[in-house]
Amino acid sequence: MSASIISGKEIAAQIREEIRVRVESLKEERELVPGLATVLVGDDSASHVYVGMKNKAAKELGIHSRQITLPADTPQEELLGLIAGLNADSEIHGILVQLPLPDHIDEARVLMAIDPSKDVDGFHPINVGRLATGDTEVLAPCTPRGVVELLVRSGYDPSGKHAVVVGRSNIVGRPMASLLLQKAAGGNATVTVAHSRTADLGEMTRLADILIVAIGQPGLITADMVKPGAAVIDVGTNRVDAPDRERGYKIVGDVLFDEVSEVAGAITPVPGGVGPMTITMLLSNTVDAAVALASKEA
Ligand code: NAP
Repeated sequence: MSASIISGKEIAAQIREEIRVRVESLKEERELVPGLATVLVGDDSASHVYVGMKNKAAKELGIHSRQITLPADTPQEELLGLIAGLNADSEIHGILVQLPLPDHIDEARVLMAIDPSKDVDGFHPINVGRLATGDTEVLAPCTPRGVVELLVRSGYDPSGKHAVVVGRSNIVGRPMASLLLQKAAGGNATVTVAHSRTADLGEMTRLADILIVAIGQPGLITADMVKPGAAVIDVGTNRVDAPDRERGYKIVGDVLFDEVSEVAGAITPVPGGVGPMTITMLLSNTVDAAVALASKEA
């Protein structure tokens, strides 16, 4: 294997320590305690696990966290009322509504109801628009923000490089492209976005100095699709059968790790790559939101 491993676990731990120090000094110097509210509607077991992890991580860093769990049949108006209350609550600086929501609730309407300055997921159309128009102060979605941190902190600054993003979802691909295009640190790349209608995916990916893959299909990216020496960031998180494992499955990425790591210059593992960065950037966004809101009030 020739590629170096970009460890999300290690970089996330480093950033969490930086956040912990920042939270501590905000408390001491400004009596400001960043607050995160997570809202969970229904009994989806994976969502319960994710929300639990987010609250635990917040508490570990000294961030005030409030978990609100509502029954699956909660009327939409009640949820909107709860969000209005959190928007007005001065102890809360970040509001996260865990998706997916039950079918009777209009997800877009709920996301629109969150005060954009407390939208730590970066999904509000105002924040999406600000990011797309080059605003560098905006709350940006956590997974792509995490990818930028992985690149910069492992010596693969995107500036001047050709970055190819595979996937155009609102959660990963599109905001990823916007961040890489920013005229700011962590941006300034030349960006190509590929998707399921791209005529020859390999032809595109082979052009990448930095290849970011967010497709959701195990092992789609093979060694022949990667330029020698490229940095490969695998966002994919796919559960595949593994009868030899006790739990009967394992998590793999969209990149065929073993063969691509023979060609790439650096690569993220799955798990332990992008995954640990997403929650970390949520906490970072919460602290950023707290500071911005406090400055507005001052
Ligand atoms: P998504 O909404 O399903 O989007 C997938 C994208 O991949 C779409 O743009 C699709 O193209 C494109 N695509 C699908 N098949 C393709 C193919 N054969 N060739 C080229 N492009 C193809 O998924 P997502 O939410 O972005 O998530 C992508 C993956 O990242 C999933 O495995 C997800 O679990 C993972 N993820 C991980 C994290 C983390 O924290 N680690 C966070 C978010 C997501 P079209 O637009 O043309 O359909």
